[in-house]
Amino acid sequence: MNRQSKWFDNISAKSAKAGRRRAAADDVQPCQHPGCDAPGTHKAPKGRGREGEFYTFCIDHVREYNKSYNYFNGMAPEDVVAYQRDSQTGHRPTWKLGQNAGKRRKKGTAHIDDPFDVFPEEAAASASARRPRRTVLASHRHAFETLDLDEAAERQEIRARFKALVKRHHPDVNGGDRSSEHRLREIIQAYNTLKSAGFC
Ligand SMILES: [Zn+2]
Repeated sequence: MNRQSKWFDNISAKSAKAGRRRAAADDVQPCQHPGCDAPGTHKAPKGRGREGEFYTFCIDHVREYNKSYNYFNGMAPEDVVAYQRDSQTGHRPTWKLGQNAGKRRKKGTAHIDDPFDVFPEEAAASASARRPRRTVLASHRHAFETLDLDEAAERQEIRARFKALVKRHHPDVNGGDRSSEHRLREIIQAYNTLKSAGFC
């Protein structure tokens, strides 16, 4: 049965080919940009609310995507700060001062070292007790300098500068550059400091 054996040869050759194709596809998926067949060698975050999910793009399309991608786009400065604070505490629910302040101390780690002022609501409470007073402490002066602002800068100016700097230094618009990530963290800390102290 010559014909039958030929038929089987054909099948096995085909499935071997498909197997090779599958193996290749496991290694590199194609770029997800519509109509692009280039190998998807780069990953790009899908964005807010879809953390941990990525698109797969070729080098050209990941660049195009990164240029238009702004994670914090449309977020108010407070939300950016809240997001940053949450990410530092692992997105655990935040506690309001007052009703749960005592519980937080008991339930959380026994002592929270807070040299970088990542729990601004506590600082804000003590700052509001001291208001109205605009003494510029060294830490506040440093915060103004970090945001490249004059110490006399008004609320609006501080907020506008913060938004602009977040946009400019976000790592996702800088190709994931670590130094811009570091700079962004400084900017957010500086803004937290000024906000806690009631400057903005
Ligand atoms: Zn592509």
